[in-house]
Amino acid sequence: MLVLVINSGSSSIKYQVREVTGAPAGSAADAAAAQVAGVEDAILTKGLIENIGSSGAVADHAEALDLLAARLDEELNGREIDVVGHRVVHGGERFSEPVLIDNEIVRTIERLAPLAPLHNPAAALGIRAIQKKWPHLPQVAVFDTAFHRTLPERAWRYAIPDELYRLRGIRRYGFHGTSHDYVTGRAAEHLGVPREELDGVVAHLGNGASVTAIKGGASVDTSMGYTPLAGLVMGTRSGDVDPSVLTALMTGPDAYDAEQIDRVLNNESGLLAIGGSNDMRELVQRAEGGDEKARLALEMAAYRLVKYIGGYHVAVGGARVLIFTAGIGENSAPFRRLVVEGLGALGVTLDEEANAVRSDEIREISGPDSAITVLVVPTDEERAIAEAAVGLAGDRG
Ligand code: AMP
Repeated sequence: MLVLVINSGSSSIKYQVREVTGAPAGSAADAAAAQVAGVEDAILTKGLIENIGSSGAVADHAEALDLLAARLDEELNGREIDVVGHRVVHGGERFSEPVLIDNEIVRTIERLAPLAPLHNPAAALGIRAIQKKWPHLPQVAVFDTAFHRTLPERAWRYAIPDELYRLRGIRRYGFHGTSHDYVTGRAAEHLGVPREELDGVVAHLGNGASVTAIKGGASVDTSMGYTPLAGLVMGTRSGDVDPSVLTALMTGPDAYDAEQIDRVLNNESGLLAIGGSNDMRELVQRAEGGDEKARLALEMAAYRLVKYIGGYHVAVGGARVLIFTAGIGENSAPFRRLVVEGLGALGVTLDEEANAVRSDEIREISGPDSAITVLVVPTDEERAIAEAAVGLAGDRG
């Protein structure tokens, strides 16, 4: 089947067309496991349509889809899309797995907009534009939060008054779920253990970064929270800070307003604030050349991650595997080494040679004596979305 995978932003649409052959089952988790059973997948084409919206070159999402359709006509040589899979950032408490979209589902995605004001409305616009243009096409939504719906209450609750949760939905949701789910499935397959028996920790380290505790193949804790700002030191996000920092910034003579605080913590913090760059390659190069700021940025990011991994090792009753994924996790051997060095107390060791190998394949980088197996598992959220879409669209008939 040909799947159009769409990631709608407020002013851009990223797309891929994947060809999926074979029959994965309905959930993303099952789909990941089904790869073992011979599901083949290929990228046929991909691209980005930018400058959508009020002042951009493309009027709106509907016009962007006209553009997209014209491009696909050219790129697919007359072959037709069978199903559309959408990446949707927030599924709130409603969605714990991918769903086939109908009008009620789109309205729910829109209703969840207060939780993801930039992303959910854009996803809904993309879905509606496709409904209008290709009404016959089945559409599937895959939520970034869904994989974390298995968190126990002690992990998702914040210790704040109950009505803030009940009336305003303030709780930990977690993000990057599609990626954490996918690489967990791949790791289980690689290790030859049933997914339901996999206990470990997944570190998704891209420009945004989060770490997840996996028990029995399911998410039981994760570092991102109510929003993707919580947890690790990221490219431009602070990760965890004392919440009183915000009240301190909001008071006094040079008080910040909400928008300024949001900008500082989301766009001007993290590796960028400490090391002067959010590009891991540049930071590593500068640190190796003796640049103290770059060295501190790397140490802070690794130290924060190491603390989370230690905590999650305990949370899952002893991790058997540590998984690195995403831009930094897959590509930065020096950063992985820093992290593994910090895990000495857990008996984790590194195979330096294996760590230095560059590859697009899943690979083991721990030493033969390591107490925990360390894997690099390339993530592929589009593939996970495509397979979930095929699973659900196939179920329709
Ligand atoms: P992502 O958000 O998953 O695309 O990851 C982006 C991050 O990955 C940026 O910090 C990049 O500097 C980092 N990255 C990408 N390629 C490499 C590489 N070859 N070596 C080190 N870091 C990389």
